[in-house]
Amino acid sequence: MSEPLVVIGNGMAAARFVEELSSRALGRYAVAVVGEEPRLAYNRVLLSAVLARDVGPSDIVLKSADWWRQRGVTLLYGQTATGIDTHIRRVRLATGATLPYTRVVLATGSRPIRLPLPGMELPGVLTFRDLGDVTAIEGAAAAGRRVVVIGGGLLGLEAGYGLAKAGAKVTVLHLMDRLMERQLDQRASAMLKRGLEAKGITIELEAATAALRGHRRVEAVELADRRAIEADLVVVAIGIRANVELGRSAGVAVDRGIVVDDCLGTSIAGIHAIGECAEHRGTCYGLVEPAYDQARVLARRLAGDDSARYRGSVLATNLKVSGVNVFSAGDFMGAPGTETIVLSDPGIDTYKKLVIAGGRLVGAVLYGDTEDGLWYLDLIRSDAPIEHMRDDLVFGRSLVERMAA
Ligand SMILES: Cc1cc2nc3c(=O)[nH]c(=O)nc-3n(C[C@H](O)[C@H](O)[C@H](O)COP(=O)(O)OP(=O)(O)OC[C@H]3O[C@@H](n4cnc5c(N)ncnc54)[C@H](O)[C@@H]3O)c2cc1C
Repeated sequence: MSEPLVVIGNGMAAARFVEELSSRALGRYAVAVVGEEPRLAYNRVLLSAVLARDVGPSDIVLKSADWWRQRGVTLLYGQTATGIDTHIRRVRLATGATLPYTRVVLATGSRPIRLPLPGMELPGVLTFRDLGDVTAIEGAAAAGRRVVVIGGGLLGLEAGYGLAKAGAKVTVLHLMDRLMERQLDQRASAMLKRGLEAKGITIELEAATAALRGHRRVEAVELADRRAIEADLVVVAIGIRANVELGRSAGVAVDRGIVVDDCLGTSIAGIHAIGECAEHRGTCYGLVEPAYDQARVLARRLAGDDSARYRGSVLATNLKVSGVNVFSAGDFMGAPGTETIVLSDPGIDTYKKLVIAGGRLVGAVLYGDTEDGLWYLDLIRSDAPIEHMRDDLVFGRSLVERMAA
C-alpha cells in the first residue's frame, strides 16, 4: 500500500519535489499537497514580469491540473494547514479536515517583512510576494500614480521597474549606500543605479523610512531626515522571513528557519523541510535554485537513495529588468587571500569582475554583458581548475574555447 505523504505549501519547492519524486517512485507514496494560495503552483520568480505586463498570470503556471492528476496527487489548493499532530500523525486543515501521514514535507516558503513603523497598516501600503499582491499593486498603481518602493534589493528594483514600465512615477528608497549590496560590489551598484535612473526611476540611497503618513490611505513616506515623499502607493520590499510557525507549533527545532540536516530531515522523524522555510547549516536561502537542489535530494532519499545529501548551494542572482543586465555569483566581493580580474569598458557600459582563489573561480559580478554568467557559475560550482585559461577568462567563453581549439 502507498504511504501517505503530505506536502504543506504549494509553491516552487513543492512542485519540483513532486516532479522529482514522481519520476523516481511513482505509486510508492499517496501524495497530498496543501496550498494556501487559491491557485495552481506558479513560477514566483516571474511575478515581476507579470507586474511589468510582459506575461499574464496564466503564463506562469508551473504544472497544469492534469499534470497533478496524472501523477495521482491530491491537490488541495486554497486550503491552509493549521497544525501537525505528531503523536497521531495527522495534519490539520483550517476546514477542520485532517490528513494522515507517515511523512510530512514542509515547503511553506517565506513571508515579506513589514516595517514596525507608524502607518504600515494604512490602505495603499502593500508587499510583493504573491499573485494576490500583484493584483492589489496593479489595482492601486494606475499610470501617473506616485509609487514609493521601500527596498533597493532585487525584489524592490524589479517591482519599481514593473511599475515604472506601467507608467507610474517611481521612487526607490534604499537604506544602504548602494543598491543590491548583498549581490553587487560598489562599481556594479553604481552602474545599476545609473541604468535604472535612465529608465525614469528615482533612487534615494541612505534613505531611512521613519513613518508612513496619510488619513484614509497612505499619502507620503516620511524619512528620518524629515523629508516627506508623496505617494499614492507604497510597496514594501525590505526582505523576507522564513515561514516557520507550523513547524514550530509541531515542536520541530526552529532557528531563523526550520532547521534541517544534510538529509533534509528536521528534529522530528518523518518531518522534512525544503525551500525558503528551511535553514541548512545556518543558512536560509531566498532563491529558487537551492530550493530545487533540496527538492531533488529529498525526492532521491524518499525514493530509496540513502546516499543523497544536500551540502549547500552556490548562489547566483540575475536581475530581471529589461536592458539592465546584472549577474552575480559566489564570493563576488573577494575574501582576504583572493585575487580579482576586472574588465571595464564605460563606453559600452560593461563591467566584469572575477574573483579567483587557489586557482579556482570563486565569484563573479557582471554588468552589461551577462551572457557568460551561467558559464562562470558552472566553473564556480564545479570547482574546476582555471589556471590554464586564466588570461582569457574575463573575455568570456567563446574566446577561451577558441584558444583551446
Ligand atoms: C517577485 C519575486 C521575484 C523573485 N525573483 C527571483 C529570482 O530572480 N531568482 C531566484 O532565485 N528567486 C527569486 N525569487 C524567490 C523565489 O521565488 C523563491 O525562492 C521560491 O519561490 C521559493 O520557493 P518555496 O517553495 O520555498 O516558497 P514559495 O514559492 O513561497 O511557496 C510557499 C507556499 O506555501 C504556502 N503556504 C505557507 N504556509 C502554508 C500553510 N500553513 N498551509 C498551506 N500553504 C502554506 C504559501 O502560500 C506559498 O504558496 C523571487 C521572488 C519574488 C516574490
